[in-house]
Amino acid sequence: VSKELQPLFDAHELLCKFYHHLLVNTKEGQHALEYLLERGFTRESIDKFQIGYSLNSWDFVYKFLLKRNFSPESMEKAGLLIRRERDGTYFDRFRDRIMFPIFDRNGSTIAFSGRSLGADQPKYLNSPETAIFNKSKILYNYHLAKPAIRKMQHAVLFEGFADVISADRSGVENGIATMGTALTDEHIAILRQNVHSITICYDSDNAGIEAAYRAGNLLSDASFQIKVAMMPDGLDPDEYIKQFGYEKFQNEVIGGSLTWMAFKFLYFRREKNLQNEGDRLAYIEEIITEISKLDKAVERDHYLRQLATEFSLSLDALKLQQKQIFFAKK
Ligand code: ATP
Ligand code: MN
Ligand code: MN
Ligand code: MN
Repeated sequence: VSKELQPLFDAHELLCKFYHHLLVNTKEGQHALEYLLERGFTRESIDKFQIGYSLNSWDFVYKFLLKRNFSPESMEKAGLLIRRERDGTYFDRFRDRIMFPIFDRNGSTIAFSGRSLGADQPKYLNSPETAIFNKSKILYNYHLAKPAIRKMQHAVLFEGFADVISADRSGVENGIATMGTALTDEHIAILRQNVHSITICYDSDNAGIEAAYRAGNLLSDASFQIKVAMMPDGLDPDEYIKQFGYEKFQNEVIGGSLTWMAFKFLYFRREKNLQNEGDRLAYIEEIITEISKLDKAVERDHYLRQLATEFSLSLDALKLQQKQIFFAKK
């Protein structure tokens, strides 16, 4: 690590420990700890993920770092302080938030994401992009999950930190998440080094389903084996686990995850009324287009038969249309 970057790493490591201390050992952090316990976080996962609390103060971190000989300029570059245009003074970026440290692949703290305790917006405040933190290259929990991912040859991709942590508590140790952004090619390149099979377990609300469709397409283009796990009533994994427990999450949500094709069947019919002829024909065409993308003739045949049965269509007509779509693409 270069001489300029070392203080950035050092300050993050120091603060990670101190935020954690504030959360678990101090009176100032008590309401934050109660909030987490109330949400179902355990002391064990609070320790494992080094979750912390940033005080409700404009200059606590500023003074804390200054006392330890960090320069405000470099701490602004680290994303920990913000400089006031007006008079050039500095203030703390994170105040009165639950602090989730973000680790790189070596386990060094390189950024934070701070969650507000109440309804304060934004709900999650991330460190800005810095010399040591690039959001589009970081997968939350990758450093802890990697051994499990390699061993199982499988990873579970979540939307949020709370989902990764709740799932970990329920025994899903190969869970990772992006940092509130869409999956990028860089994320995919990192994953490819260790795994070719992924279960997407995003929130089952509209935004989550749309994001799962997009992530699934990217992963599928990159030749990953994909499954999609869904929950009822628009829940997210963390909420589901709180409501239904670990076992049901493992057995029904992860265990019952859909193949990528089955997910697309559901996805395309989501906002359609299949009793309506126009909707029905549009749906059939979309599905045939998907089927024509499959490499294996046996799979194409399987899904065409499924479609023929569901809509009482002749298999010959479906096959013909599928061939037309297939050759139109070439
Ligand atoms: P919680 O359970 O704490 O309410 P969540 O993970 O369910 O959080 P979502 O609203 O589902 O939150 O958002 C998913 C992820 O998107 C979050 O974990 C976070 O990384 C990111 N995110 C959400 N809101 C914001 C925001 N306002 N700014 C930046 N990132 C955000
Ligand atoms: Mn969401
Ligand atoms: Mn969510
Ligand atoms: Mn949630």
